[in-house]
Amino acid sequence: MSLGSEEGQTRSSRGAAWIFACGEWLLMKSSYDCVVIGGGPAGSSAATIVAEGGFETLLIEREPMPRFHVGESLMPETFWALDRLGVNERLRANGWQVKKSVQFVTHKGTESAPFFFRQHDDRDCSDTWQVERSEFDKMLFDRASEVGADTFDQTRLIDVRFDEHGRARGVVVRDKEGLDHDIDCRVVIDGTGQQSFIANKLGLKEVDPHLKKAAIWTYFKDAVRGEGDNEGATIILNTEDKQAWFWFIPLSRGITSIGCVGDHAYLLKGRGTPEKVFQEELDRCLGLKPRLEGATQVGETRVAKEFSYMTSQSAGDGWVLVGDALGFIDPVYSSGVYFALEMGVRAGDAVVAGLSKNDLGGEQLGGWIPEFKEGVGWIRKLVHAFYSKEFSIGRFMKEHPEHHGNVTNLLIGRIFGSGAGAVFEDMDASIKRAKMESVES
Ligand SMILES: Cc1cc2nc3c(=O)[nH]c(=O)nc-3n(C[C@H](O)[C@H](O)[C@H](O)COP(=O)(O)OP(=O)(O)OC[C@H]3O[C@@H](n4cnc5c(N)ncnc54)[C@H](O)[C@@H]3O)c2cc1C
Repeated sequence: MSLGSEEGQTRSSRGAAWIFACGEWLLMKSSYDCVVIGGGPAGSSAATIVAEGGFETLLIEREPMPRFHVGESLMPETFWALDRLGVNERLRANGWQVKKSVQFVTHKGTESAPFFFRQHDDRDCSDTWQVERSEFDKMLFDRASEVGADTFDQTRLIDVRFDEHGRARGVVVRDKEGLDHDIDCRVVIDGTGQQSFIANKLGLKEVDPHLKKAAIWTYFKDAVRGEGDNEGATIILNTEDKQAWFWFIPLSRGITSIGCVGDHAYLLKGRGTPEKVFQEELDRCLGLKPRLEGATQVGETRVAKEFSYMTSQSAGDGWVLVGDALGFIDPVYSSGVYFALEMGVRAGDAVVAGLSKNDLGGEQLGGWIPEFKEGVGWIRKLVHAFYSKEFSIGRFMKEHPEHHGNVTNLLIGRIFGSGAGAVFEDMDASIKRAKMESVES
């Protein structure tokens, strides 16, 4: 062990160490079966599954938990992962706003009929929630600890150690006192979100050139919500010139999350402060303005940019990526947390199976990824349809009412299995026709 006292000098420790984290003194061992990085939904769910599988698991998060995070609207299909993690009852008891529908509002302010999930499938799994992410993520982080993972907040991944064959062998993490710990492990699960640590280190990140978006968002008290079962609806509203769109996510305690998304260059280049741009876009959003009359802004204005990318390789010997660390498409359909939880559970299962039979190759750890990426591909297609300015989902639904169930399925998150992309047989043709008509006129 060496403890340098001068500034700039690395202080490091080998061997187990007592560390003050999550409000108590906890023992960090020098070796684990599995180290999970990132205390978001992806990392915490993966850690829960691996620890439940009986393997020594370390979960670290660099921020103090609970920590703020964007992304409050869940998709109904999160039900199954949350059930597996054993937290559905806690969610129900927590008093978060129930979400039963999604609604779209055109650039002219015309409201679509809400897509009610229960009309499509009248089971409990069709209701979901709009959550305060700080509390939701803390609940998942604590769950990992409850089932036996060693969990440390304010502890940052500094490096992943690979051997000469490219196999991940361990990590270096820095605790809140600035002391580095060298930890051996058999598997690293990277759930570092948009930091995407391993993908950046190995040069695997691929930015989607068509989705270079940015978001500006804040919170309002007493915005006008939908009525009855539509009260908790996520509402997606286009601006007049369709250069941007807003999300309207009703949270608990009368607070609503309101965010504006557009091309990065359009929103953030040469237009002044984010507050000014937000107001200008709000003035262009006919559907939103009346909902905010009488509402008061209660949060600071926040910005996120260039968040859409994929990874060319998502698992390798001794490592696997989960959640945003593997890839993120776009916030429009609120799919991020669902994907993160689903990936956490699937990767967790693959790691447990791999540790049990001592097969920790990339194919074993990432065996679930091809099917997962195929499912995500349907949401990606729906995102691109949304951004095709010439195309109108409202018009498409009028022309093809027989696809109402297929579209609702996608909005619920049912993207795996045959038939998941059935709507695109007609939607692709509609988009093509709309583009040709726009060129001709
Ligand atoms: C503008 C916007 C709006 C969104 N809206 C929605 C929505 O309404 N619904 C939805 O489902 N999704 C939404 N998302 C997406 C959603 O926020 C993410 O997909 C989701 O949080 C991914 O979970 P995760 O666990 O992969 O990553 P995260 O939740 O980001 O967690 C990763 C964690 O890793 C930690 N970390 C990073 N680097 C290190 C390190 N070196 N050492 C230790 N810890 C580290 C971070 O601090 C973080 O806590 C939105 C995204 C954006 C950009």
